[in-house]
Amino acid sequence: MSDIYQEKRQTVIRDVVVGKKCDICFKDIPPTSRSFPRTNHPYFDITTHHSDWGNDSCDSYEHFHACSPACALKFATEYLNDDFDGSHSREIEIKHHSAWFMPEDVIGDD
Ligand SMILES: [Zn+2]
Repeated sequence: MSDIYQEKRQTVIRDVVVGKKCDICFKDIPPTSRSFPRTNHPYFDITTHHSDWGNDSCDSYEHFHACSPACALKFATEYLNDDFDGSHSREIEIKHHSAWFMPEDVIGDD
């Protein structure tokens, strides 16, 4: 069976990121403007999980944002000082991003 194609306009509804918030101090992390001069607002993606066994490890992944090195370190310190809630390991990954951009098709919508 052959598919027959024709150009048609479609409206697609999908979830897009329209904001970021620090999970530690709850401040908004502003997007970077697409026009110059740009003001970047660095932020950190934090991923935590344990690697004890099987599906429990897969289900343990959690993701957070931090607005500053101070907030990222506060989160890491509290996470690593917390009792391990029955798990035998803890892993934390902190990625620094220099900026994030609002998707172009969202700009102007409010
Ligand atoms: Zn913060």
